[in-house]
Amino acid sequence: MPDTRLSFRTASTAVFIVVTARFAAKSMRELRARGIFGSVKDLYNFSARKFFRFMMTLPGISEKVNAELDKTLTHTEEELVPRGPGIRRQLELPKDGWTDEQVTSELHELANMKHSPWEAGKVSGAVYHGGEDILKLQTEAYGMFSVANQLHPDIFPGVRKMEAEVVAMVLRMYNAPESGVGTSTSGGTESLLMACLAAKMKGRYEKSITEPEIVAPVTIHAGFDKAAYYFGIKLRHAPLDPITYKVDLNAVKRLVNANTVLIAGSAPNFPHGIIDDIEGLSKIALKHNIPLHVDACLGSFVVPFMEKVYNEIDPAVTVPLVDFRVKGVTSISCDTHKYGFAPKGSSVIMYRDAKLRRYQYFLATDWSGGVYASPTLAGSRPGALMAGCWATLVRIGENGYIESCRNIVSAARSIRFAIQNEFPTLYVLGQPIGSVVAFSSETLNIYDIADGLLKKGWHLSALQNPAAIHIACTRLTVTAAGELISDLREVVAQVEMHTTAGEKKPQGDTAMLYGVAGSISTNAVVDELAVGYLDILYKV
Ligand SMILES: *Cc1c(COP(=O)(O)O)cnc(C)c1O
Repeated sequence: MPDTRLSFRTASTAVFIVVTARFAAKSMRELRARGIFGSVKDLYNFSARKFFRFMMTLPGISEKVNAELDKTLTHTEEELVPRGPGIRRQLELPKDGWTDEQVTSELHELANMKHSPWEAGKVSGAVYHGGEDILKLQTEAYGMFSVANQLHPDIFPGVRKMEAEVVAMVLRMYNAPESGVGTSTSGGTESLLMACLAAKMKGRYEKSITEPEIVAPVTIHAGFDKAAYYFGIKLRHAPLDPITYKVDLNAVKRLVNANTVLIAGSAPNFPHGIIDDIEGLSKIALKHNIPLHVDACLGSFVVPFMEKVYNEIDPAVTVPLVDFRVKGVTSISCDTHKYGFAPKGSSVIMYRDAKLRRYQYFLATDWSGGVYASPTLAGSRPGALMAGCWATLVRIGENGYIESCRNIVSAARSIRFAIQNEFPTLYVLGQPIGSVVAFSSETLNIYDIADGLLKKGWHLSALQNPAAIHIACTRLTVTAAGELISDLREVVAQVEMHTTAGEKKPQGDTAMLYGVAGSISTNAVVDELAVGYLDILYKV
């Protein structure tokens, strides 16, 4: 009889060695990626966060924290969810349907509820308006295709044709090679999800990678964090160059390892409007044979025309290459619903070749409901949106988009130069050349400036790490740029008056929130606030 105890012991020793080796390899990867100092800091942050989360559950503390949370959330709820005697609330299906007139009149009320006044061009990003004529055309397109579904191309051949043509037009804008392909999606986030999923699957099938990782700048869109969360991928954030605010290429090199399935950069990024060094990232990607995604969701229909526009308005500016002309670029996301001015709910994900696109496809060929195949996250897809998108693209045309690029880039430049030249206490982050300008201050609390601007009707975006605010210029902002600068002048003067030397004490709501968000000890509170906020969205 064989000695089972011995073989058990051998087996457990083997298991022990394998586990230890895996752990050592993992630790080495972390250490290489973050350096000793960074690794210790990560460990500290991790433990501190756990500790404070635990503290929050202690009696005495938890009641206090919850009382504060409730107060803040009640305030938010009052702002977002109208209640009172004059407000009609529909909590169940009406027994008998309303008349057309009733519905229309209620819709008018809903459209006119008190809201941030985007119509005056005082909101950063958010509304990518192509003009009244375009809105009318889109409504007509919707009406004609409101029952259409891309899931059934045999029933709606026109919608299939429009989708294929939208993808083709966007591929051409981004200089895709003959082999270039893509799909439409419901928006930038879905495009990013698809790019990450395709890269993960490619890594699994071609390199047997079971613990996939993505390397991307800290400024990459949060959609990457979402992809990591949804698809079980580890997202490794690379820091920025402190002067240019582009991703630090040396940091990217250190973060890349045998598990890396995708490298990504932005053209430009959301926070600062800075275009990463895509050619630099491409060199790293090619050297290690890793796919490279360019997030041009925001660049959309501005970035492809910037070369031409800068030749006219300022030939001294070199517009970097960010599209498929850069060898290592394997996928690009472009939002038709941003500067393409298509109705909300549309974006395009492009790939250098069909092999990579295939990895985002989902197949269930033995399903009892029949052979099922779907290109993106959704099953049924709204044909009406695709019709609206196609109609917008062909209506505006290349020259129309060049014109809008010129206007938007010029507005952003005038804001940037005004801040750089006329505001000694403010500074612009990096050298943005697109539609977004982010700025901050060494001496003033920048969130107080945001709150001051809010009082004047301006809704700019608050940024963190580092604290800053930005404006994403749209067609609507173009005519309001001068007003922004004069309002900013007044607000900065006020905040300067309230700032005692060396102290950036927060005054308003934004300043309070980001004061809380910026500290490890209170981050758990911000999570609770964020969850409470999402819950409020579904209150009636
Ligand atoms: C807007 C944006 C996205 C995608 O956002 P969606 O809201 O999902 O359309 C992705 N990346 C950047 C840089 C963006 O600005």
